[in-house]
Amino acid sequence: MKAVQYREIGKGPEVVDIDEPHAGPGQVRLKVTAAGLCHSDWFVMDLPEDQYTYGLPLTLGHEGAGVVDELGEGVEGVEMGAAYAIYGPWGCGRCHACAQGAENYCPYAAEMGITPPGLGSPGAMAEYVIVDDPRHLAPLGDLDPVETVSLTDAGLTPYHAIVAAKEKLYPGATAVVIGVGGLGHVGVQILRAITQATVIAVDLGEDKLALAREVGAHHTVTSDEHAAERIKELTNGLGATAVFDFVGVQPTIDLARAVAGMDSFIHIVGIGGGILPAGFFSTPMGAAVRAPYWGTRSELIEVLDLARSGAVGVHVERYGFDGAVEAYGKLHKGEVRGRAVVVP
Ligand code: NAD
Ligand code: ZN
Repeated sequence: MKAVQYREIGKGPEVVDIDEPHAGPGQVRLKVTAAGLCHSDWFVMDLPEDQYTYGLPLTLGHEGAGVVDELGEGVEGVEMGAAYAIYGPWGCGRCHACAQGAENYCPYAAEMGITPPGLGSPGAMAEYVIVDDPRHLAPLGDLDPVETVSLTDAGLTPYHAIVAAKEKLYPGATAVVIGVGGLGHVGVQILRAITQATVIAVDLGEDKLALAREVGAHHTVTSDEHAAERIKELTNGLGATAVFDFVGVQPTIDLARAVAGMDSFIHIVGIGGGILPAGFFSTPMGAAVRAPYWGTRSELIEVLDLARSGAVGVHVERYGFDGAVEAYGKLHKGEVRGRAVVVP
């Protein structure tokens, strides 16, 4: 089957032909209908050899959707031919976090060798993908898989970060979204759909800011040396009640800290490697800093329901396998508008 793999440190993604996988006991095989490209794939592929822990070759794709086409021994409650999205942050399934559906915070997964598809386990950027357990399937129903697949990460991750800040998103509050890429452009829509907060979106490029306005941002601000001042003006000098940094490099983290108001939440979602010094003299009084990871199983179901209601949608650029390498190149250069999705 065709697959997009990372095979050699520093070489980037390649389209290859590999053997079809089969569902082992308890597993489900999906015929892939769509797989999204995430900037985290580049985080992984940009790691130097001594820090790389994801195994080679790695089939990419931690945003996946497909239809069930093979059931492993003992699997029940899943219908052949039914359409699902894959919940990616697989946990042990038995601990306190997993019992709450928060498998993204399972403290045992890593030591048990359980890794997400596309980030250790073979991912969805292939004709077939193996899902380790039916509990990691969220029913798509009538939702279009190509339009929906990225909600498994680019939707779920901002949703989780926003829900965790809900108490700071009251009417009259201000949310700042830094980085209007795959995650950020869905984040803006989630903020508009589930809160009454005023949304200020920040990015480097005018095309990204135009997209932010299209999807509901009240104000847009160019990410330059005047950004903090502009955001302070827009908030009558008070700063934001919640800041979501979907980039996480030092300049955006510095901006997040500069524009956060007193008693605010600063949620750093991007994994750009920047550091935010927290403490009485370095963050606004009462401010809380968090670095959330992905989201819970119930939150994925909620995000899919938001899409069903029409409140949230992904701006998709479609590619075939043959365009996947080009799409990854565009993502690396920050040229994807919304999310790039590979459609087998
Ligand atoms: P993306 O490339 O689609 O979007 C990034 C956006 O940030 C682009 O629009 C880009 O123009 C903008 N940007 C870059 N530098 C900027 C700056 N200095 N100021 C303002 N905007 C800037 O990436 P994505 O797939 O949306 O991922 C965003 C980040 O989130 C990545 O670091 C990714 O690895 C991370 N991520 C984290 C989690 C998590 O669980 N914490 C999950 C998924 C992705
Ligand atoms: Zn991701």
